[in-house]
Amino acid sequence: MTDTMKAIRVDRLGPPDVMQLQDVAVPSPGPGEVRIEVEAVGINFADALAVAGEYLTRTRVPYTPGMEFAGIVDALGEGVSGVQVGQRVAALGGSGALARYATVNAAGLVPVPQTLTGAQAAAFPVSYFTAYHALQTLGRGESGEWVLVQAAAGALGTASIQLASALGLNVIALASTEEKLDIARRLGADVTLLQDDPDRVKKVRDAAGGRGVPLILEVVGGKRFQESLEMAASRGRIIVIGNASREQANLRPVELMKRNLTVTGLWLTSLMTDATVTAEAARVLGELVASGRVVPQVGPTYALAQSVQAFEDLLNRRTTGKVIIEPGR
Ligand code: NDP
Repeated sequence: MTDTMKAIRVDRLGPPDVMQLQDVAVPSPGPGEVRIEVEAVGINFADALAVAGEYLTRTRVPYTPGMEFAGIVDALGEGVSGVQVGQRVAALGGSGALARYATVNAAGLVPVPQTLTGAQAAAFPVSYFTAYHALQTLGRGESGEWVLVQAAAGALGTASIQLASALGLNVIALASTEEKLDIARRLGADVTLLQDDPDRVKKVRDAAGGRGVPLILEVVGGKRFQESLEMAASRGRIIVIGNASREQANLRPVELMKRNLTVTGLWLTSLMTDATVTAEAARVLGELVASGRVVPQVGPTYALAQSVQAFEDLLNRRTTGKVIIEPGR
């Protein structure tokens, strides 16, 4: 093995084209870390926000983006047990995956069925754990209830539809194009609507028996957040997961009082620190993936040198499923 490798580096924050392909040193695993030969990196909206300096946490430069990935364990740091060299794993780390090799704390390894491809494994952790916590841990969705899924053909959207259907919820899916709505239907959405349909608020409320939707997974923000309040049923739960519009939303708390609405924030990174809820999510998701009832949706796939294109396509709503970058290509 050589001492250097190709990696994406960000020296200053900004739009995707600040990312550059460079030669850097292959990292060595420190104590408690595992080095992985990266097969596939799942690109999340959060990666693009981090490169832009607009994420929930501050991005320190220079750095190599890439928080979610899968590959083959290649070397173990001191004190690591329970994982073998040669095993395929998925991993969640803060950054560093857009490279041929990446190191991650062993605590960031996510067990995946060995039947998944590298790309499917990289499409799994962020979207499916987030969907689980939105629908169950925080959303407390029950079989037979209606749930509204926005950006339904995206990575989180496709995960949410599959998981909601598997858990017995009825899904109303919103997305920007008919092609995206086709994907939502194929994955089990019961009702689909263009997100710019002029009568969308009424149609969504009607679809849920005329009473509005008891559970809403809110990922767009801005004026769409206001609409989510209107689409919600009395005592509805709105789980705020994202702000893809990057617009500010106005929330007047008194608006929540009239219909006893609940608005709950969700950030996967902070939920992952709760070992109990993480273990329960892993158990349920592991069973559903192993049985084939939930299949991670791999979207467009790019080489490392096409990373800028991958991020631009994601930000400009040109992708469905999970955007994947394969550093070995
Ligand atoms: P997606 O694959 O869903 O891609 C983003 C989608 O957002 C687009 O395809 C688009 O779908 C929709 N969208 C709506 N409005 C806009 C807009 N103005 N600009 C761009 N896209 C828009 O990405 P992810 O699955 O990675 O993320 C989806 C959302 O969930 C993001 O807001 C992300 O930050 C959030 N998220 C939050 C997590 C957490 O821990 N809180 C974890 C994972 C995701 P369409 O064209 O159909 O409108």
